[in-house]
Amino acid sequence: MADLPMPTLGPVARLAPKPMRFILNWGRRYSLWAFNFGLACCAIEFIATTMSRHDFIRFGVIPFANGPRQADLMIVSGTVTDKMAPAVKRLYEQMPDPKYVISFGACSNTGGPYWDSYCVTKGVDQIIPVDVYVPGCPPRPEALLYGIMQLQEKIAAESLGDRYAPGGEGA
Ligand code: SF4
Repeated sequence: MADLPMPTLGPVARLAPKPMRFILNWGRRYSLWAFNFGLACCAIEFIATTMSRHDFIRFGVIPFANGPRQADLMIVSGTVTDKMAPAVKRLYEQMPDPKYVISFGACSNTGGPYWDSYCVTKGVDQIIPVDVYVPGCPPRPEALLYGIMQLQEKIAAESLGDRYAPGGEGA
């Protein structure tokens, strides 16, 4: 079957009146379907963040995306190896626009304790764009909650037309 063209956002996203953009951004920031790319110990902290004690669903983050095609937020938690990197990139590319990435933990940010390993990618931003970095080894669930709030602030202030314009952050 031939590949279907990816839908584009068009000029409306950039030229829409400010109140309309506010409402669209408000809807997107509080309905983030998250896809967890758990690769190592940090994934346990991600799971803890989804549980009742921290409960990130109250921020409008839904951790039950069936896969990348149903997700608009990828949270990469753990050590990205050079062998795994193409799979991370491939699943990112399967997510529909607009899409966001949180890099959760030192390994995902920079390679962490394995930064000088022959087989570890020195940060997931070597292969896909990252919107928010959460530091720590591992970061506590509160740090992920803070990272999510930072992402929501970013979404509230953004223009999708600019984000996906040539040379833009998500282009
Ligand atoms: S940052 Fe630390 S806790 Fe997280 S995956 Fe790497 S080694 Fe494990």
